[in-house]
Amino acid sequence: MEPVIQIKKLNASYNSEVALQDINMEIYKGEFIGILGPNGSGKTTLLKAVLGLISPAQGEIRLFGGPVDSAARKRMGYVPQKGSIDLTFPVRVFDAVMMGRYPLMGLFRYPSRSDRIVVEEVLKGVDAWHLKDKPIGELSGGEAQRVWIARALVSDPEILLLDEPTTGLDVMSQGQIIDLVHRIHEGKGLTVLYVTHEVNNVSCYLDKVAYLKKTLYAYGHPNDVIKVETLREVYAGEVEVIQGVDRPLVVVGDHCHV
Ligand code: ADP
Ligand code: MG
Repeated sequence: MEPVIQIKKLNASYNSEVALQDINMEIYKGEFIGILGPNGSGKTTLLKAVLGLISPAQGEIRLFGGPVDSAARKRMGYVPQKGSIDLTFPVRVFDAVMMGRYPLMGLFRYPSRSDRIVVEEVLKGVDAWHLKDKPIGELSGGEAQRVWIARALVSDPEILLLDEPTTGLDVMSQGQIIDLVHRIHEGKGLTVLYVTHEVNNVSCYLDKVAYLKKTLYAYGHPNDVIKVETLREVYAGEVEVIQGVDRPLVVVGDHCHV
């Protein structure tokens, strides 16, 4: 079977600073991939390269067996990292989510009745329909993430890329987002790339984990990849891996211990 995302010898840099080096990954249809690594390790850069928002300095990315072109881009949904969406922009939730359908609309971008029905269905599916008339700047962290996930879903993508959707949320809201992404993954058979710092909360759902720090340190099934030696290299610090009932659990930066 051909991978839906194939990353071959990818190098990416900003000006002369290298952000990703020699990344090789094959991602297959329907896989749920966790992307981990410390701040500045290139996680967002990797998503942006897959989305075609930045061009590789070297190497190649292939999507659906072809190049990263506008047709391929329309088949992907993206939930950017917090802070990259302007919340002062005076727009209500319904219209913000409708923007996710713009790439599918004609030249004049006028939402049709069917566009409105899709937005309504998707907002209901992420439990955010009651928020439809709220200005986006007035949402709580968890509500905002559900809305951005809805915006990514209304174009009916085959690949969903989420950049730290749970960072900064309380434990309950984190759980809601993870359950939601898990449900979307299961229900639609979507291929999901999920950047996070919280591996313990999702590893039970993940098919594979990628540990990044400029280069790809490890890539495979969570049980094979989550090893104390690997994690100590990636995080250059105090990391413990405890064997849980069904999976390894990671404890990062246990300051009380040192
Ligand atoms: P992560 O998402 O893992 O925190 P990023 O992909 O955002 O990491 O960043 C990887 C590296 O590239 C960092 O060293 C960061 O400072 C640098 N970088 C990211 N975006 C830019 C940019 N727009 N211009 C210059 N350097 C950047
Ligand atoms: Mg990032």
